[in-house]
Amino acid sequence: MELSKISCMTKELAEELKKNGIISVESLAIRSLSELQELFKSGYMLEHGEACNFQRAKKALEEAWRLTGFWIMKASEIEAVRGKRLCFSSGSKAVDDMLGGGIFSREVTEFCGEFGAGKTEFLFTILVEALGQNKDISAVFIDTEETFSDVRVSQIAKARGYEPKEILDRTIYIPANDSDFILELIDRLHITIEAKNVKLIFVDSIIAVLRAEFVGRETLWYRQQLLNRILRRLLNLAKVYNVAVVVSNQVVMNPQAQFVYDPIQQKVPTGGTVLGHNANTRLYLRKPAGGGKKRIVHLFDSNWRAEAECTVVITEKGVEDA
Ligand code: ADP
Ligand code: MG
Repeated sequence: MELSKISCMTKELAEELKKNGIISVESLAIRSLSELQELFKSGYMLEHGEACNFQRAKKALEEAWRLTGFWIMKASEIEAVRGKRLCFSSGSKAVDDMLGGGIFSREVTEFCGEFGAGKTEFLFTILVEALGQNKDISAVFIDTEETFSDVRVSQIAKARGYEPKEILDRTIYIPANDSDFILELIDRLHITIEAKNVKLIFVDSIIAVLRAEFVGRETLWYRQQLLNRILRRLLNLAKVYNVAVVVSNQVVMNPQAQFVYDPIQQKVPTGGTVLGHNANTRLYLRKPAGGGKKRIVHLFDSNWRAEAECTVVITEKGVEDA
């Protein structure tokens, strides 16, 4: 939506906003009031008297929230104002049913589990199915572990009857192994989302960079704060642009649960409460005893679905029903 859709917008304010990468109603709506205030305080935004001051910017922000459906309204109007949520297949019907249809837009879906549990396989399969079924959309794949494989994505696409090149052409691949870079990147991601009609953002994995950079207890608060900022921004993008955010997450041994016979308590997802509060749907993957290609998928946290479990297999098609 053009910034001119906002009734209190002036030429001066629009120009100042554009200097800060705020190019549309949506890209304004993802900002918080304090972020906007920061722009004025830090001197990024010049005061042009009445035409461009903080009061006017604040009013414009509220209108942007209203226009994108993040303002006070009747609960019965939510879908009409925000538009229909999109739903993408996970590659497995059992998992889709467990999730009430599949992976939804405007949500953060998290796959966690230990090494080899199938997190990346799930991300690749969702990517292939989403782009294979919807020819007009693109996806962003942020790779923090250097585990993205165009070869594997092609293989899954081919096995599922899609043209591999067609899928890779619409996958915007971003290697990211530095937390400052990730923050910068996420700050500008809305430009790519608008230009390429991005409807899915993958992050594999959300915590790898932070865990490598910030070692030890004393840096934990900073790491958690950074993670919170990254997730908040991703969630805002998801909400305003109707995008599905899918992240993978590692697990760590929980020394307090050494004698508890519950795999989720023994090895807990990293990111603690920050991830817990920001992810809408959380799935825990594990290998059953004996290993092989089977994986147990446990939906352990959802804001609208009951806890449940099902089994999938990893094959040349990526993740599919057992
Ligand atoms: P992680 O949770 O660490 O991201 P992955 O998603 O990479 O785990 O899953 C790795 C698993 O996927 C391995 O067990 C591997 O055997 C399986 N896998 C990878 N490629 C194929 C393939 N082409 N055919 C069958 N299984 C595969
Ligand atoms: Mg992986």
